[in-house]
Amino acid sequence: MADVLVVGAGPAGAATALRLARAGLDVTILERSRFPRRKVCGEYLSAGAVAALDELELGEAVRAVAAPLQGVRLVVPGLEPVALRFPGGALSLARERLDGAILDAAIAAGARLVYDHALDVTFARGRVAGVRTAASGDLSARFVVGADGIGSLVARKVGAVHPVGARARYAVGGHYSGLPDLNGFVEMYAGAGAYFAINPLSGDLANVMVVVRKPALAAWSGAVDEGMRGKAAELGGAHRDFSRAARVGPRASIGPLAHRVRSASAPGALLAGDAAGFVNPFTGQGIYLALRCAERAAATLLRALQKPGDESASFAEYARAVASELRSRARLAALVDTLVEVPFFARRAAARLDRSPQLAAVLLDALGGAASPRTVLRPGTLRRLLV
Ligand SMILES: Cc1cc2nc3c(=O)[nH]c(=O)nc-3n(C[C@H](O)[C@H](O)[C@H](O)COP(=O)(O)OP(=O)(O)OC[C@H]3O[C@@H](n4cnc5c(N)ncnc54)[C@H](O)[C@@H]3O)c2cc1C
Repeated sequence: MADVLVVGAGPAGAATALRLARAGLDVTILERSRFPRRKVCGEYLSAGAVAALDELELGEAVRAVAAPLQGVRLVVPGLEPVALRFPGGALSLARERLDGAILDAAIAAGARLVYDHALDVTFARGRVAGVRTAASGDLSARFVVGADGIGSLVARKVGAVHPVGARARYAVGGHYSGLPDLNGFVEMYAGAGAYFAINPLSGDLANVMVVVRKPALAAWSGAVDEGMRGKAAELGGAHRDFSRAARVGPRASIGPLAHRVRSASAPGALLAGDAAGFVNPFTGQGIYLALRCAERAAATLLRALQKPGDESASFAEYARAVASELRSRARLAALVDTLVEVPFFARRAAARLDRSPQLAAVLLDALGGAASPRTVLRPGTLRRLLV
């Protein structure tokens, strides 16, 4: 029996496994997709995410293959594009490579990888005891970590999931060539209910993500590339010509983009990363959150294994801390969402950020994980942005 069975080898699962394996635990990772696998993601690594990779001693290896990012260019209808410079440290890197690097490190530290599909969670004496798989039978462990992403099976099976709202959005994207002059800037375009982002990767590739509500996606009825192109042209206006953009490799999609849980812990199990709750991806906080959640999950499990009597208190504390972090990051994301979706606020905030590098730094530090979201959510900062 393993000490810990981690379901999902994304950043949350692989980083949890890496930390636990380095601490000498017997760890199994269960992953349904063969790596390297594509993950729908803007592939932006905030400075906070890079700092978390440094703590895992992976920063140097990641920097060697990633592209440095200078900042973000906000394209708001009715205004000249506004360029905001990142304080430093942000990168872009294809998820195949990022996730592969963390998983390889976990395996090198002694974690065992099983490629299989978790179909159910098993219980014994009122607590989670393992996972039923498609091909490897029942795997048991003293603790299970559900790091199986948005729509997490583990979260569902421990009864932690809130129903998804009907207005959820869907994301479609891929890697494109033929989008010149990004010059290390992520370009963000937004309009009512939709947005798209272009993130320059290394070489002449860029990551393009379009996020739309379900009716828009349904209206594309199979002609998804044309639909994406149309939405990009609509939101980008004259600023960017998509006529020469060509997709390189497969298109990927995911949705509905919503997942809320009541608690990130249950007897015998923790939820980590997107499985513990999902924050609107426009603000690029997901990988940072996944890595920080992994740090907390690993510390909580180590404590529970060392002091079994403390398990219920430390699991409850974990759930509280994760919920609090997610709540404040979701509020920050909701603020940015409102800013970009309501043209009046979008124009006002873009103009203020353009005029005040200090205000822009406060926002970017909070979004990037270098500062608490509260630094933006306090009334003084909100006034400076909006009033
Ligand atoms: C459109 C979009 C754009 C985004 N852009 C960014 C961005 O630019 N920057 C950023 O920081 N964040 C971004 N995010 C968020 C980021 O992708 C996630 O927060 C991050 O991937 C979460 O990591 P994770 O390890 O929790 O989950 P995941 O990366 O989703 O990993 C979960 C793993 O679990 C596996 N799995 C699932 N179910 C099972 C099962 N039943 N059995 C076995 N294995 C299973 C999956 O195959 C997967 O490998 C974006 C998200 C979206 C949707």
